[in-house]
Amino acid sequence: MAQATTAAPPVDRNNDRLVTALDVLLPLLGVGTALYLLLAGHHLSIWNVIIFASMWLATFFGVEGGFHRLFSHQSYIASPRTRQLLAILGSMAFQGPVIWWAATHRNHHKLSDRPGDPHSPNLGKQGLLRRMFYAHIGWLFSRRTALPQEWMRYAPDLFRDRAILAIHMRYWYWVGLGLVIPTVLGGLLTWSLYGAFMGFLWGGLVRIFLVTHGVWAINSICHTFGKRHFRTKDRSTNVALLSIATVGGAWHNNHHAFPGSAICGFRLWHFDISGWIIVLLHKLGLVSKIHRPSPQAMARRAINLREAMRIAPQIAQSELVKSQIEFEPAASQVADAGTIPASTMAQTHSAEHSALLSNDTL
Ligand SMILES: [Zn+2]
Ligand SMILES: [Zn+2]
Repeated sequence: MAQATTAAPPVDRNNDRLVTALDVLLPLLGVGTALYLLLAGHHLSIWNVIIFASMWLATFFGVEGGFHRLFSHQSYIASPRTRQLLAILGSMAFQGPVIWWAATHRNHHKLSDRPGDPHSPNLGKQGLLRRMFYAHIGWLFSRRTALPQEWMRYAPDLFRDRAILAIHMRYWYWVGLGLVIPTVLGGLLTWSLYGAFMGFLWGGLVRIFLVTHGVWAINSICHTFGKRHFRTKDRSTNVALLSIATVGGAWHNNHHAFPGSAICGFRLWHFDISGWIIVLLHKLGLVSKIHRPSPQAMARRAINLREAMRIAPQIAQSELVKSQIEFEPAASQVADAGTIPASTMAQTHSAEHSALLSNDTL
């Protein structure tokens, strides 16, 4: 990859509250209109249902499988064309341009639930609902949190990737394309203007509403409610109820425990649609080197000894007890995170990723 100019972020996105308001209000307006039409007896054609479902899955996977597991965490390797397609699909979700998204997300992992986390619901003295609202969408309106201070520190690899930088720079083009595709398909497949409008409404605005709030719910709900299966230094949780609506992103405690893993569902009933698609892409030869933690690594991080012994019964109980004692307890110490020295918090993304390389790959 050739070197690109890296002096400053090329797109100053999200510093503009008007853009963020548009991001929040326009899809909401679409949902209101869609519900009104449904209640008024204007039914969706089967084609519009198919367009809506396909656009939802493709763009949500663009964010969860692309922006998140590929660009933010490098949890697998994708062919250049697949990489570019995922960057475009993720951009269509109206979640912000790819490099901004990845830089912000790496910032979140580095300081998760500690001062400096852009969207933690566990900081500050406000009530729970206010903190959750802030973690959901409030942070997007804040200049302090919506832009990481040092982009080059968080995503230098992506700035140097010319193809990804080019897609990042054309962000609004992809957002527009995400609205044009369902509109055109709706019109052509139903051969009517009404079908085109319903394609725009459902495949465009309603789909964007569900994808954006699905991703934001991971920030707000999956750091507040749910179960913790692994010890982490934050308050991340697994929320099974949201697993399908977030295409697997709601296995967030699994993810924070093993951020470099391409697969976030570790049990048969952990519906991880993004993980399944990544495995499918691997079978098709489009991606490779899918990282996933070994049973031993999972057992050492398990929240209790019984779970650890279930995951890796071959490990001696004494060793598991030792690793459980060695690992810093999570939730009880997060409240005191402000006292943790900056050097301790500065676990770099690359170090986190290197640690995972010792685990299994496909
Ligand atoms: Zn998180
Ligand atoms: Zn992550």
